[in-house]
Amino acid sequence: MEFQPIKKDPKSWSVQPNLLDYEQTYAAFSWDQIHHELDGLPNGGGINIAHEAVDRHANGPLRDKLALRWLGKDGEVMDFTYGDLKEQTSRFANVLRSFGVQKGDRVAVLAGRIPELYVAALGALKNVSVFCPLFSAFGPEPIYQRLMRGEAKVLVTTKLQYKKKIVEIWERLPALKAVLIADIDEDLTENVYSLPKLMAKASPEFTIPPTDPEDMSCLHFTSGTTGMPKGAIHVHQAVYVHYMTAKYALDLHPDDIFWCTADPGWVTGTSYGVIAPLVHGVTNIVDEAEFDADRWYTILQDQKVTVWYTAPTAIRRLMRLDIKPLEVYDLSHLRFSASVGEPLNPEAVVWGKAVLNLIIHDNWWQTETGGIMISNYSSADIRPGSMGRPLPGITPAILHRDENGNVEIETRPSVEGELALKPGWPSMFRGYINDLERYKKCFVGGWYFTGDLAERDEDGYYWFIGRADDIIKTAGHMVGPFEVESALLEHPSVAEAGVIGKPDPVIGELVKAFVAIKPGYDPCEELRTELLGWGRKKLGSAVAPKEIEFVEYLPKTRSGKIMRRLLKSRELGLPEGDTSTLETTG
Ligand code: ATP
Ligand code: MG
Repeated sequence: MEFQPIKKDPKSWSVQPNLLDYEQTYAAFSWDQIHHELDGLPNGGGINIAHEAVDRHANGPLRDKLALRWLGKDGEVMDFTYGDLKEQTSRFANVLRSFGVQKGDRVAVLAGRIPELYVAALGALKNVSVFCPLFSAFGPEPIYQRLMRGEAKVLVTTKLQYKKKIVEIWERLPALKAVLIADIDEDLTENVYSLPKLMAKASPEFTIPPTDPEDMSCLHFTSGTTGMPKGAIHVHQAVYVHYMTAKYALDLHPDDIFWCTADPGWVTGTSYGVIAPLVHGVTNIVDEAEFDADRWYTILQDQKVTVWYTAPTAIRRLMRLDIKPLEVYDLSHLRFSASVGEPLNPEAVVWGKAVLNLIIHDNWWQTETGGIMISNYSSADIRPGSMGRPLPGITPAILHRDENGNVEIETRPSVEGELALKPGWPSMFRGYINDLERYKKCFVGGWYFTGDLAERDEDGYYWFIGRADDIIKTAGHMVGPFEVESALLEHPSVAEAGVIGKPDPVIGELVKAFVAIKPGYDPCEELRTELLGWGRKKLGSAVAPKEIEFVEYLPKTRSGKIMRRLLKSRELGLPEGDTSTLETTG
């Protein structure tokens, strides 16, 4: 292994990590323990996410603590204490009641990261209705698809979104009864209401009804990286996982200032951009604006962010800029950072250490898992390129299966197979909306199959190989695109790479790389030859790319994932399939 493990030095810890001894914590763990660390509704009323995130703090010593600081894109700042959040979310729950919205009814939100989104999400959970976020840049058709499949009863949005996207699709949405607009003071037309007006009229008192741990909480659509997005159903007891993972994988402590850069349109932005930090009673930073390196470093500095959760795609954008942040910004408050969404290239871990003086902790999970499943930890050494080890209470395995559904557990170290999880963790999805067949197919032989391939080393660290759909079969070898992309990324000219298998009559598939280069480099023949040679040197000729094509940027989902299926269909001139989640700029 070329990348040396990064050792942790306890002397450098400013706070003691929550998880000090991995093996011991994993062995001693029980969900019962987490149950006792949370509150539960009074009088045995069950467990409700909004109670754990908001009301229990607002009813206690954290009432006046800053819960959420919203940074508007034009410089405006709005602060909400836990007490404020309790009042606002109670008002919103009462607004829902006034429309007859009940337990299990879907409440969709189509908006950028505006304060009303956070109030609506938590207020819907209070009413035991189901929060269904829709990413704000979707066009009318993807929005229609999701509202229709989710049977949304109420939609919270802005005037512009309503006019541009909802007006034309509403007649095809019989379930949608009312649209609540966040930025108008008077009702617009019949069934199109001013949310501020409704909020002002609503009572600030709301008693959360008894909530069964199995009551539905969120409906999250997947990123659509591998095909048509699926609607994953989640339940209220998922909060056990939000809490436990933020404690152990994100190492949240009471005085932390936390910033998750993901948009709540995706599961990370809800589980960790809304719920988990509030459940821990910390201060949660929300930035309305889109990625901008200077803005981001300034937020980390000025807000004194201590724990930062971001994604490889953002980290690669920062890497590409070649600036030395520590010479310009004071990032001394930042003590912990983590990344999710795609494999974190080892080069990015090395960059973080060198340039930010920060170790970036990769972790792995999916929309379906509801929370972090495999992670690197504050107290544990890092093996760059590895996703880390399972969270307490989570049992993954590397499996092989045949066409008859026989499943065999791989016990040898460093042998690749399908990454699976033992069902039963509280935040596991309970279904794909309107697609029972597909849901059932995920479970074979008592395991949940994630659709990813991985291997586990002799010390229990998991290494991502690729998505089962993306694996390249070339001359008898199985090649994961990530390995090839990471090797290319080590070359100083490469900003990003996406690798696919291109059908080839002789070797089955040949490895083809699409490469975006950094500013200042010329995409010329010499560079192509050099990169082909670089690949052979790093990977050996069996795995190295045989073809390289320079591109300005790679097609990505709006949640920042490289869409290899699109690189492939475009290469082969095939239909592109569902592109509702495709990011339209670099
Ligand atoms: P779809 O299921 O619609 O194709 P998607 O799988 O990209 O989309 P998400 O649930 O948002 O939708 O993403 C989960 C997937 O992202 C994982 O299954 C995995 O392939 C990838 N992923 C997430 N975190 C990591 C990580 N740390 N390392 C490698 N891959 C990761
Ligand atoms: Mg998926």
